[in-house]
Amino acid sequence: MKRVIQAAYIHIPFCTHICHYCDFNKVFLHQQPVDAYIEALIIEMERTFERFPTSQLQTVFIGGGTPTSLTAKQLDRLLSAIHRTVPLASNVEFTVEANPDGVSDEQLYVLKQWGVNRLSFGVQTFDNELLRHIGRTHTKETAIETIERANELGFHNINIDLMYGLPTQTIDQLKETLHITFSLPIQHVSAYSLIIEPKTVFYNLMKKQALRLPSQEEEAQMYEIIMEQMEQRGYKQYELSNYAQNGFNSRHNMTYWNNEYYYGFGAGAHSYMNGVRYVNAGPIKKYIQLIERGQFPYINTHVVSKEEQMEEHMFLGLRKSEGVNKDEFFRRYGKTVHDVFDEAVALQKRNGLLEETEEAIVLTHRGKLLGNEVFQSFLGVSS
Ligand code: SF4
Repeated sequence: MKRVIQAAYIHIPFCTHICHYCDFNKVFLHQQPVDAYIEALIIEMERTFERFPTSQLQTVFIGGGTPTSLTAKQLDRLLSAIHRTVPLASNVEFTVEANPDGVSDEQLYVLKQWGVNRLSFGVQTFDNELLRHIGRTHTKETAIETIERANELGFHNINIDLMYGLPTQTIDQLKETLHITFSLPIQHVSAYSLIIEPKTVFYNLMKKQALRLPSQEEEAQMYEIIMEQMEQRGYKQYELSNYAQNGFNSRHNMTYWNNEYYYGFGAGAHSYMNGVRYVNAGPIKKYIQLIERGQFPYINTHVVSKEEQMEEHMFLGLRKSEGVNKDEFFRRYGKTVHDVFDEAVALQKRNGLLEETEEAIVLTHRGKLLGNEVFQSFLGVSS
């Protein structure tokens, strides 16, 4: 059965400040060739849709970086080009990541006008001291004001990103952030633990032993508190780090966890099309150059073997609360999960990290806390 491509990610790599924990592909906005970048993005989209056509997109996600570091006019240019270049489903999920303190009414009007119907704010925490610590420039007050304003302007599908396990973060600070979250018009929450990545301010501080991180036990306790309180307040956990009110699961993110194909546009973006993974050039100038030369901006392509697809299917699918559907696995690969991963499944069931129902294989509660251990056991075993 031919799989279609129905999701697109578009990367805006500019930020008005650089956070202490961030290793995303981004640069400081000042003096960057933003307009040239947008033109390159539009050309990349046109070229790609010509070579890899789609009947229509079900989801579009503009992320970053900080997409709202673009002016209203630049956003208008980009969004109108998207509409011109590719058909969108009538019920498309169209997300833009937005800065919790920098987004203007004018920008929000432009987004609304072009059918953006989901906003994602990188709030991280509602604690001002912690925000300063992690290098964010917004405050609890500006984040609250922005979310309420977006809601008043008609955005009724709002996600916030939260982080836990932050340096010096206490359980009480986390609980206060959750308390504020539940008082706001927020339909979806992504809550990730801090991971210290190389080449970040935090990494250097950690090497100098100047970073006071919560213990592993405290971090696990924070995760438990998040899961428990989200459940109590009507946000269903549908993936390890994602919670949504009824009807607000992110369809775009489900594309990744269902191991489906997607377009990726922009500097450093990844795509997965017709069995091949592509990686775009990361540096902005290089990306623009490749496009201007009439080429695709790929610096790496990888044909995904059937074995790799099955492994990815397991460790992505197990992230979902519904787990890996056994019939779907068989439909896609012509083999059962047990044909391929019998030992790994049996081992993790014995360890109490996986359980099996008639339809699916899912992580247990303990398995959610030790997800990486489970995912590892599915790597390199299918060949
Ligand atoms: S976390 Fe977001 S806003 Fe901060 S530097 Fe990274 S991409 Fe930019």
